[in-house]
Amino acid sequence: DELGHDYLEIRGLTVDFDGFKAIDGVDLTLLQGRLHFLIGPNGAGKTTLVDAVTGLVQGTGRASYRNQDLLSMKSHRIVRAGVGRTFQTATVFEELSVLQNLDIAGGIHRSPWGMLRARRGVPAYVEEALATIGLSHLRDRPAGVLAHGQKQWLEIGMLLVQDAKVMLLDEPVAGMSAEEREQTGELLRRIGHERTIVVIEHDMDFVRSFADVVTVMHGGTVLAEGDVATIQADPRVQEVYLGH
Ligand code: ADP
Repeated sequence: DELGHDYLEIRGLTVDFDGFKAIDGVDLTLLQGRLHFLIGPNGAGKTTLVDAVTGLVQGTGRASYRNQDLLSMKSHRIVRAGVGRTFQTATVFEELSVLQNLDIAGGIHRSPWGMLRARRGVPAYVEEALATIGLSHLRDRPAGVLAHGQKQWLEIGMLLVQDAKVMLLDEPVAGMSAEEREQTGELLRRIGHERTIVVIEHDMDFVRSFADVVTVMHGGTVLAEGDVATIQADPRVQEVYLGH
């Protein structure tokens, strides 16, 4: 856009499961350089929204990034377009080393010839991602031996080597220790300057500590949006969380 900022734009997004609208006309503009959090009670539609934007379920309406119409693209093309996601349960190759996991993830941008050449050495961007996620000392360990939190960081590293400019993270700190949560928040801040990061989150302490913008979903719609203080003061939000 004219400001030179990247953003993910969602307009009138609707996901219909056999007549049940899990997402019902959602508008969201997610700007680069802010940490966005998506909160809301179970069943609000948070995961379905991320699924629709990443091509796992079919949505109608519009979701676009850099003028690319994500809703008409298959999952693998969405990844190449720079939009990546993580899952609540980390999806790493347990038998492969941390480094191999990153190298394979980076392979989406390489030709087969490039992949062959890469065998001779680790590409610089893989080394860089390894350092960014703080796992350099575990580079040759099988990913299966990593602690839960470290696997989440590895998944984020896999998005870094895929050059994901938009990262959609599904409850990345669930099951983490307080220290790991802090480290994760700091990691997201570091990498978030030049990316659009959207985090589905239930842990309100984590949201309070790291959110720039919070979107509250309820019943497949956006109930409220703003900074943490605004959201917390909103009576509609209080009712959804406390009123039943
Ligand atoms: P959240 O992530 O906010 O907990 P979800 O996106 O998982 O919410 O679910 C939103 C609603 O859509 C829920 O009522 C859920 O039961 C329903 N839902 C999710 N996936 C499907 C599906 N594949 N088929 C039918 N209903 C679904």
